[in-house]
Amino acid sequence: MAKSKVIIIGGGASALVAAIIAARNGAKVTILERKDRVGKKILATGNGRCNMTNIKCTSSNFHGGNETFINKILAQFDVNNTLEFFKELGSYPLVEDNGKVYPNSLQASSILDNLRYEIERLKITVECNAEVIKIEQSNNFIVYTKDNKKYYGNKVILATGGKSTPDLGSNGSGYLLAKSLGHTLIKPIPSLVQLKSDAKFLKQIKGVKINGDAAVVDEEHNILRKEYGEILFTDYGISGPPILQLSRIASSRVSNNKNVIVDIDFMPKVCFEQLDTILLDRLTAMPYKTISDNFIGFVNKRLIPIIIKEAGIEINKKSSDISKKERNKLVSILKKFSINIIGTNQWNQSQVTAGGIDVNEVDSNTLESKITKGIYFAGEILDVDGDCGGFNLQWAWSTGAIVGRSVC
Ligand SMILES: Cc1cc2nc3c(=O)[nH]c(=O)nc-3n(C[C@H](O)[C@H](O)[C@H](O)COP(=O)(O)OP(=O)(O)OC[C@H]3O[C@@H](n4cnc5c(N)ncnc54)[C@H](O)[C@@H]3O)c2cc1C
Repeated sequence: MAKSKVIIIGGGASALVAAIIAARNGAKVTILERKDRVGKKILATGNGRCNMTNIKCTSSNFHGGNETFINKILAQFDVNNTLEFFKELGSYPLVEDNGKVYPNSLQASSILDNLRYEIERLKITVECNAEVIKIEQSNNFIVYTKDNKKYYGNKVILATGGKSTPDLGSNGSGYLLAKSLGHTLIKPIPSLVQLKSDAKFLKQIKGVKINGDAAVVDEEHNILRKEYGEILFTDYGISGPPILQLSRIASSRVSNNKNVIVDIDFMPKVCFEQLDTILLDRLTAMPYKTISDNFIGFVNKRLIPIIIKEAGIEINKKSSDISKKERNKLVSILKKFSINIIGTNQWNQSQVTAGGIDVNEVDSNTLESKITKGIYFAGEILDVDGDCGGFNLQWAWSTGAIVGRSVC
């Protein structure tokens, strides 16, 4: 049988795995990458350490698409397959908090080096500075690059990523290619991204970090998603791991013109009543101090005037003069400090794209297009995005591996 001639558009995480698996299965593979080198985004992952997967990965860590589709993908190439694949290449896994997996070297570059070594060993053709602008279908596919070159193949994999961090390569051009082949694009929105607020007090507390709960709530203050961790206040809004985790739902509500409020609980380890008792004890033990001084050592100093002002209390009021009602108000604010969200930071700040090519138009067994036979999809270009914690790379590895097998 004639060898499959496979063209992979994009040279990111999903493309490199797809290329290796296709070549191991006998395909002749060419990677076309628009940047000057492949895998630029891999180098930036996990703050340069590459949180490559997560041993607690389930379909609940993914959004968009549909659950059946996601489950089918994860079942075909799961976390164990991923760890095995990377071990064979030389990357030994290190499991850290919350199931996050890193290479034992803690170097994202080591993941890329080992992938590139295998790409070279398998004699896969890699063309860099090759931005694909058009795909034409005759007997085979003709793929055109910006510099007027043509490439011929009988299978084409679209692995161009989403729109996040265009500096690292993924600029959304893959969506146009897919649309030109008849595919539907679910509106892409930034995810795993900082949230912007119009709250006036932010400038005063820029740089303050607290450990607490953050929750996105709806108009009736029903919790839509809650996360614990280090929250950072910035001059434009809020950031930090729990905020990135909440950003998907916040981004989606903003894009649908719905209100977005984030409620922060500064004291998640104690309930309202316990906090009230703690506060009463402090007020009784230090009656001579102003309420502002009383809070020193209890709440971050830069937050104190904001919390007291929010409670409508005069900042120099003596602890002994604080009424029960005022104390209750302070407890309420410490337990639920509401921040109005007006948007998210933009593509250059977002780690992942929510939205993408509609998975209903893609075969969940092979990742082949149901609209144009011979066209395949891998990675973030699809309308599936993961939580923070190694899930997005797992999606890239799983879809890359499945496509690599399918094209042969
Ligand atoms: C700063 C940062 C940190 C992250 N950290 C983590 C982490 O620790 N763990 C985790 O799981 N996920 C992380 N992610 C997300 C993860 O990196 C991505 O989800 C994953 O890389 C997506 O893989 P992909 O192959 O689909 O796309 P990409 O890796 O984006 O690769 C797409 C490639 O296609 C190329 N391309 C695009 N259009 C064209 C075209 N028209 N012609 C030719 N080439 C084209 C691009 O240049 C790019 O190289 C992080 C993302 C960022 C931005």
